[in-house]
Amino acid sequence: MTGTKAFDGVFTAGWMRRFAETVAVTEEELTRLDQAAGDGDFGVNLLTGVRCALAALDRLPPGRQAAAVPLGAAAGAFLDEVGGTSGPLFGLVLQELAAAVGAGPLTGPALARGATAALEAVQRVGEARPGDKTLVDALHPAALALRGCTPDARPDDCLAAAAAAAAAGVRRTRALRARRGRASYLGERASGVPDPGAVGIALLFASAHAVPRTLDGVLVGDGVADTASADTVPTDTVPTDTASTDTVSTDTAFGGPDPLCGPEPAPAGP
Ligand code: ADP
Ligand code: MG
Repeated sequence: MTGTKAFDGVFTAGWMRRFAETVAVTEEELTRLDQAAGDGDFGVNLLTGVRCALAALDRLPPGRQAAAVPLGAAAGAFLDEVGGTSGPLFGLVLQELAAAVGAGPLTGPALARGATAALEAVQRVGEARPGDKTLVDALHPAALALRGCTPDARPDDCLAAAAAAAAAGVRRTRALRARRGRASYLGERASGVPDPGAVGIALLFASAHAVPRTLDGVLVGDGVADTASADTVPTDTVPTDTASTDTVSTDTAFGGPDPLCGPEPAPAGP
């Protein structure tokens, strides 16, 4: 990747909006995975999260934000509005990324610290270990890839490495037998099916620089290459070094603001 680019809230807002669009276009595939390896609600859970994340982004004050602000807004949406197991876990991941970035710009070392803390938080809550066929099997390799990123590397290149590592982790889940979550009740029925939550984590990292239109890049490719082609990415969501990505709003991505994810009610007066 070339050119100079500020890794501030414009980049992270664009990342979250691309993740939302990715989930919207792959929701049916995600649902089918969870029908095969769970109870079928993962696509809807993730879609609810990104819709509410978009609504939260749209409520942010205009102007440039610190990189952590859009990440924190998306985290709050997942933590507050989404059911299922995945909603709170994705919320934790985004929350830890935001916390590690703090008031500064997005950097490779901050992403490495955030992904490591995210992995610890997810494991503290869900008690899954690598190999249990959960989203940990994508988050763990992603965190390792980010930790392997040199301090002077561009954060978007670090995120691309994380996406590739997460996608490789997803593909390894096919052969695993689930020991956590609903899939663990299905025994052999879920064998051969990649873990849906792990796929979601791979999509999160892949969306840092593109909008994957299908799950092929995660399930077959390296989670990066097929998404980088300009003709697979809608021009209205492609970040460039000159165009602001915060112009893609709930309205363009989802056909209108979501009434389910409105602003917090104003506190009652005295
Ligand atoms: P539910 O299982 O409650 O229907 P979702 O369908 O929203 O939840 O999410 C399913 C995903 O959640 C799984 O594919 C898996 O990646 C993840 N998951 C389930 N249990 C755990 C756990 N204990 N630790 C980490 N991830 C988990
Ligand atoms: Mg489910």
